Amino acid sequence: MNAASDSILVINCGSSSIKFSLVQPQSGEHLLKGLAERLGSEEAGLSWKGKVNGEKTIGAADHKQALLEVVELLRVSGLTPAGVGHRVVHGGEQFSASCLVDEDALAATRATQHLAPLHNPVNLLGIEAAQAAFPELPQVMVFDTSFHQSMPRRAFLYPVPYELYEEHAIRRYGFHGTSHRFVVAKAAEQLGRPLEELALVSAHLGNGCSAAAVLGGKSMDTTMGLTPLEGLVMGTRSGDVDPSLHEHLCNTLNLSLAEVGSLLNKKSGLLGLSGLTNDMRELLEAEEAGNERAAIAVEVFCFRLAKQIASLVVSLGRLDALLFTGGIGENSAQVRARCLKLLPFLGLDLDEVANAVHGRESGGRISHSSSPAALVVATDEELLIARDTAELLT
Ligand code: ADP
Repeated sequence: MNAASDSILVINCGSSSIKFSLVQPQSGEHLLKGLAERLGSEEAGLSWKGKVNGEKTIGAADHKQALLEVVELLRVSGLTPAGVGHRVVHGGEQFSASCLVDEDALAATRATQHLAPLHNPVNLLGIEAAQAAFPELPQVMVFDTSFHQSMPRRAFLYPVPYELYEEHAIRRYGFHGTSHRFVVAKAAEQLGRPLEELALVSAHLGNGCSAAAVLGGKSMDTTMGLTPLEGLVMGTRSGDVDPSLHEHLCNTLNLSLAEVGSLLNKKSGLLGLSGLTNDMRELLEAEEAGNERAAIAVEVFCFRLAKQIASLVVSLGRLDALLFTGGIGENSAQVRARCLKLLPFLGLDLDEVANAVHGRESGGRISHSSSPAALVVATDEELLIARDTAELLT
């Protein structure tokens, strides 16, 4: 037995990268954290932070070879995980909870592939590579969508012909489920109340942004939909637009559907409005320096955020607390303040002093009122994946 024998290796597999982290599920400690990037190219590299930090080039390694490098890294570090937890983006309607990887689970995940064609195939590739690299370890899948499977039909259905739902699974799924689930549980601890009693809105604001209405620990509604494009303004994604925009742009600018899709996913949001960057911190600095387009981007971001938060309260009937998390939610006192100032009718009154103090390192209440409270809660999706994995192993 070594110190890490009850730890879980968490794997988040992207198209050309693998993020990995060895996490102790009880303490939440990250024993080793790393990134294999530029996979498949000559510049493929591996970097890690732990007791010892390091980096190395790994030739033209693919996902499988990169995971074998991770096995070797763990071996020389004297770390042996008890299992592997994988982030999987889409679980469709098949998965309302995390599950052990077996042939049936893999087949069900493959069947949802058309709903997340950019993500699920690489997530599955990561699982296959991990099975090859760690043949003796049990593997678990944790889905971004599963937390939102509790949404009632009034929230998950689009008002389009019902057959599209029945025959083609066209509905709202929601994403960022691991983060929302993690922060609502932590918020209940911070509030000293059982999660089952609480009506919460959680705002995950990172490069991707989504908010969720969570009643008694169950997701009732969320801003993302069939894909992660719906909802809030994001770094490069537009969030909600008129659904006729596609046709309009195809007709007026002679764009293909794929070009409009790319425009809305990669060239819109904060980047599109500002023409500068998708990075909120840089935008706030540019606004401070007098850049008008940066100011417009931040203004639209905060307005739409507040508007969606207010609409999510409809699902809850009341609000006990509003939670801010993700890179922007945890670090930007300014975005939090600008959002709260648009929501006085919910009874949220900003405590400027607390708002300036609380951040990623010290979450806490940033409103004078205790109900509803506004809280900063640092997310840790890897820890939740590790905890789900450890639980399924027992
Ligand atoms: P990802 O969704 O890729 O995990 P993060 O959750 O790390 O991203 O969030 C990235 C966003 O957080 C960026 O827009 C970044 O500018 C923003 N951010 C990080 N620190 C600050 C800060 N101090 N002030 C404002 N924005 C910040």
